[in-house]
Amino acid sequence: GSRASTAASVAQASSGQLRITHPERVIDPSTGITKIDLVRYYESMAEWLMPHLGRRPVAIVRAPDGIDGQLFFQKHVEGDDLIVVPDAAALMQFTQMNAVEFHTWNAQDDRLDRSDRVIFDLDPGEGVAWKQVAEAAGIVRALLRELGLQAWLKTSGGKGLHLVAPLDRRHDHATAKRFSQAVVRHLTETFPKRFSAKSGPKHRVGKIFPDYLRNGEGQTTASAFSARARPGMGVSMPIAWDELPEVKRGDQWTLANARDRMSFQKQDPWNDYWTCRQTLTRGMKLLGL
Ligand code: ATP
Ligand code: MN
Ligand code: MN
Repeated sequence: GSRASTAASVAQASSGQLRITHPERVIDPSTGITKIDLVRYYESMAEWLMPHLGRRPVAIVRAPDGIDGQLFFQKHVEGDDLIVVPDAAALMQFTQMNAVEFHTWNAQDDRLDRSDRVIFDLDPGEGVAWKQVAEAAGIVRALLRELGLQAWLKTSGGKGLHLVAPLDRRHDHATAKRFSQAVVRHLTETFPKRFSAKSGPKHRVGKIFPDYLRNGEGQTTASAFSARARPGMGVSMPIAWDELPEVKRGDQWTLANARDRMSFQKQDPWNDYWTCRQTLTRGMKLLGL
């Protein structure tokens, strides 16, 4: 099996002055965003991003030839070692290595087998208006609340939204996945016109696929504040629930405007997320699991 390393070599290498190669290289031809723009984005957002990485194993999406070139989804550094980004210096070293996206496990490296959050990745099918995506998030939130779970919200930086419910590390990933699958079954049975239980593009025309597969062991989801390797370079942005009615798109925040938003935030839109203590126990019982 895989072990988690603290990417010591990476951290060490970055303790000195970090040299950014090809700073002026355009990585997003649709906007002209360059490598140094991305590096500066991560540098200025490190304070917000690092707590979301924490001690989670990370998968990175590297784009050495820009986001129009081949993308490399990478879960290991050398050999079998999982990637952990211990500090801002290591983060910057990864950006120098053309990492654009940072995806995280629902676990931390001292207890990889335990789930510390469940994620509902709301994937809109063809022809779904944003209003429907926002309504779906409200429905999932209400159901989770009935099941004893508070959930926090972020844009994906792409097409959809992610709901995140933190967990005490009591359950394994199989349990978290079984729970989230039952939640999705309940949603699709109750609102068959809104939600699809099947992911294929044909099945979700006009509907939303609440993707529970993000909760399996070793599965990853784009982290809050990760940039996305897509035209326009959206950013996955944590938002407060009362902001949702004003949000227009999953890629509303981008490399160009995310920093401004955060510099005007008086407090973390996920302020209470960090201290929330909850488990799946009540929800499992209510769902007959
Ligand atoms: P959107 O809102 O557009 O759906 P998203 O980040 O939710 O954006 P998805 O396609 O729903 O995108 O999710 C893909 C998930 O699959 C990512 O969270 C990622 O961590 C995971 N994943 C697994 N393997 C890969 C891979 N080879 N390339 C990209 N993502 C991968
Ligand atoms: Mn998605
Ligand atoms: Mn998905």
